[in-house]
Amino acid sequence: MNIKLKSLALGIDVGGSKILTAVVDSRGNVFSRDYRPTPHEDTEAVLQQILRSSESAIKQAVITVEELDAIGVGAPGISNPRTGVVFSSPNIPCWHNVPLRDTIAAEIGKTAFLINDANAAALGELYFGAGKGASNLIYVTISTGIGGGIIINGELYYGSIGTAGEVGHMTIDVNGPRCNCGNTGCWEMFASGTALANEAKRRIRNGAATSILDYAGGVLEKVTARTIQTAVEHGDALAKELINQTGYYIGVGLANLLNIFNPEMIIIGGGLSNMGSMLFDTAFRVAGERAFKENVQAVRFAMAELGESSGIIGAATYALNEIRKKG
Ligand SMILES: [Zn+2]
Repeated sequence: MNIKLKSLALGIDVGGSKILTAVVDSRGNVFSRDYRPTPHEDTEAVLQQILRSSESAIKQAVITVEELDAIGVGAPGISNPRTGVVFSSPNIPCWHNVPLRDTIAAEIGKTAFLINDANAAALGELYFGAGKGASNLIYVTISTGIGGGIIINGELYYGSIGTAGEVGHMTIDVNGPRCNCGNTGCWEMFASGTALANEAKRRIRNGAATSILDYAGGVLEKVTARTIQTAVEHGDALAKELINQTGYYIGVGLANLLNIFNPEMIIIGGGLSNMGSMLFDTAFRVAGERAFKENVQAVRFAMAELGESSGIIGAATYALNEIRKKG
């Protein structure tokens, strides 16, 4: 296939732990893929890593920068897509008011657009994944933290300054633990992979009988959501209890979203979506018990279909849509 017949964009997904970059066309086809770790020294180190990743993804696709129509950057944290500035990011703490869009555009020499990473993934799933054909959906990504993207009448909802969709920071327990965002008792403090791992560590420190630690090589710091998943698969009672508790809290948050937005779909992505029914049978049951039954009957829960590609495809598609509007 001659990929140059279609519009092409560079999709960049900047995460707290890795940067994924790809050349993507207007039909969501991915022609190259570059991964590398996210450095945390300073803003410049992150930028240089993004540029190296971009160069590699362009080279892999055997195209030149001139053949790209635009660049789409998905970035974690609070940002304004209109100004292209990232205000702050809990997962990349060195970022404060970084003009990420314009810096990348100037360095690579191509028009760039900035979008929140979870919003990008929501668009990817809407156009090419589980949300195809839907008009009103909420995308929820559950991994280290919890992010979200809200699609209303087929359009991403940005809010007044572009920071809408931070579903992970709705308050679930007013007396809950303090979150990186400054609030207490946020949803992601109870229902994320980090919350799950932290609760396991706390219980182990308090002497709980469990095999979880064995699956982490005996090192408490190495206990992750995945370790707990493995322990459940081997019949560990505490691991099962912790998964049920996390599922319960995921369900509480989903019920809030059902009542506020009355979506036709809720799509679950992120690392914890791999746990499938082990975690989400409880989550969807609890959401169903707590929300208005009409809203529960109207919704379809689905797992994301594009996996880790939802962000790069969404960011690239966003860029291609925006450049078309400009042109
Ligand atoms: Zn928070």
